[in-house]
Amino acid sequence: MYNHSLIFTMKYCSIFFILLLHLPNLHAQFPQAMSIHVEMGIPLDDNASNDYLIIRPQYALSYNQQLNVANWISWNLHRGWYGSVPRYSGNFIADTSLPAEFYRVKHSDYTNSGYDRGHMVRSEERTATDEDNRSTFLLTNIMPQTPTLNQQTWLSLELECERMCKNDNKELFVIAGGVFGPNPKRLNTVVSVPDSCWKIIVILDSGQRVKDITSQTRVIAVMMKNGTYTSGTTDWKLYATTVDAIEQSTGYDFLSDVPKPIQAIIESKNYVSVREYEHKRGLEVYPNPTQDHVTIIFDGMPYQTYSIDIHDLLGHSVKSYQSQSALNAEGSSTFDIDVEDIPMGAYSIVIRSQHELFATQFMKH
Ligand code: MN
Ligand code: MN
Repeated sequence: MYNHSLIFTMKYCSIFFILLLHLPNLHAQFPQAMSIHVEMGIPLDDNASNDYLIIRPQYALSYNQQLNVANWISWNLHRGWYGSVPRYSGNFIADTSLPAEFYRVKHSDYTNSGYDRGHMVRSEERTATDEDNRSTFLLTNIMPQTPTLNQQTWLSLELECERMCKNDNKELFVIAGGVFGPNPKRLNTVVSVPDSCWKIIVILDSGQRVKDITSQTRVIAVMMKNGTYTSGTTDWKLYATTVDAIEQSTGYDFLSDVPKPIQAIIESKNYVSVREYEHKRGLEVYPNPTQDHVTIIFDGMPYQTYSIDIHDLLGHSVKSYQSQSALNAEGSSTFDIDVEDIPMGAYSIVIRSQHELFATQFMKH
């Protein structure tokens, strides 16, 4: 619907308006005029025809009228957004701000689908006023998420955001969305189901803005499959990755208003260290009964290539594999590895992509 220059105009037109009316007061007006929710920039991909931009007082989003869900949702978060109004209690709300020719997703499209109506901007993150809270129930802010993703793994990161805001007085700039295959599953034939859901969180101190970002600024980036999570696999840290990886998986350029040299640095770092690798991405290893093969199962990030290396305890590589093709995130990836020709003993299995490294161990008896 919007080409890039029009989106650009939408972002800045109100600034020009304010420039005319409030010239002496320009500095004070500038951030509000831009919308705080796109402080890090408006994410764009190479096809603007399905990026319909909506900016609300509570958040900003890009809607995809072919998928019938948002491409991304972007919002500012600090302790002031958390309040005490009760959770909106009605049905989820069709978004009448969409153009008339777009399908408007309704509450019942999700009913009995097996998928939760997963908030992107969490209900609790907009509880200062009833109107704020109601805005999170608009179905343009909702994605189909499996119950264990929505209620456990995704929630674990929402709780960490709440903790950072309330306990550490951080100010966060959050962007979230899904990764979709070429022919995604549809709820009620309309609502596309993402293969994976991702979230990017730029962590600043209260009151800081894009101009305060340095190469030391911490960014959390996660990619979580839209599948089933079992006990021990629901900690968000297990799904930490880089912004670069999410950009590759989605085709969007995020944090585009961060100066390029700094953007390149903060987007390539994974600041989250995972000490217990065991369950990262659901990694499991099963030796077969005759001990001549091991089966390795893990959930790769969409459209990433992984290498699998088996090391002995001295760190020497004894076997090396490249994943056959870029993985999509529909379910787990299974690799069957022949270990007949290696001696008995303990080995580590190291799995690596351009953005991730994780490992576990197995014994050949
Ligand atoms: Mn949720
Ligand atoms: Mn970027």
